[in-house]
Amino acid sequence: MKPNDQPPSIDAHYRSLNMYLRERFGEKVYKLALDGGFICPTRDGTLGTRGCIFCAGGSGAFAQPVGEDVRAAIETAKKRVSGKGGKKFIAYYQSYTGTYAPLDRLRTLYTETVSHPDIVALSIGTRPDCLPDETVALLKELNRVKPVWTELGLQTVHEATARYIRRGYPLAVFDDAVRRLHEAGIEVVVHMILGLPGETPEMTEETARYIGRSGAEGIKFQLLHVLEGTDLAEDYRKGLFPVLTQEAYIRVLERCIEAIPADMVVHRLTGDGAKRELIAPLWSADKKQVLNAINRAFDRDAVMQGRTV
Ligand code: SF4
Repeated sequence: MKPNDQPPSIDAHYRSLNMYLRERFGEKVYKLALDGGFICPTRDGTLGTRGCIFCAGGSGAFAQPVGEDVRAAIETAKKRVSGKGGKKFIAYYQSYTGTYAPLDRLRTLYTETVSHPDIVALSIGTRPDCLPDETVALLKELNRVKPVWTELGLQTVHEATARYIRRGYPLAVFDDAVRRLHEAGIEVVVHMILGLPGETPEMTEETARYIGRSGAEGIKFQLLHVLEGTDLAEDYRKGLFPVLTQEAYIRVLERCIEAIPADMVVHRLTGDGAKRELIAPLWSADKKQVLNAINRAFDRDAVMQGRTV
């Protein structure tokens, strides 16, 4: 195969998480999906009981439950990915709101997590309205031991959509959380959803641009999935909104990638929906096919992260 015949790489078009982790840790680093037994204020009655409208359970379907024995849970989670031969791991507490618990519980859980020798970083999925100053101070302490980053579920900058999806906080709360996390030296990764009901591609691009300007170090793009058992599924069945076609998703994803700064780390280009619960869009169930289609489109359109910043 001549050099020019190399298969195209979407990494050439954007700053991928894999590239970033290799630069930072010198080798491939694997994520351990962990479930610290948290809940959300949108579920426990504080802000609501049915969660965000699209959420079927805090993306914890594949996460390893972590009880009292943190080390044992990490070892079990490592075995799940050990076929890939990894030596370095990121502990990713992805289920529900990873800072929504008494401070003592957070301190014990996360201190034990970062003390594991194979854990090179701690990543906590949470909400910007669940980061009181004392929690940020704890994250700052932990960050002196191992790098800590927080993943904030913003989803959109548009307040009307935020109300519809029952996000439960205004945009100003996000801005304040990012500022306080950065003052504490904590990296921020922001989640956004493409294809939210009522949003045009222009509105979606605005969200990406806003996140890009927020100073956050990373971004995760997620296609809107309609999942069984959610209130979103009810609205979808009533015909209240359409879902994106694959072509439309890729077009708006390209706009978002080009609207964010070139040095922002792209943690994800699309989501891993729980296939058994997925109602729509069904094309998203074949992730390999989707990534191939993104790959081809990025090459065809010569996508370049940061081009329209
Ligand atoms: S999307 Fe996040 S904050 Fe909302 S209910 Fe699900 S886990 Fe909780």
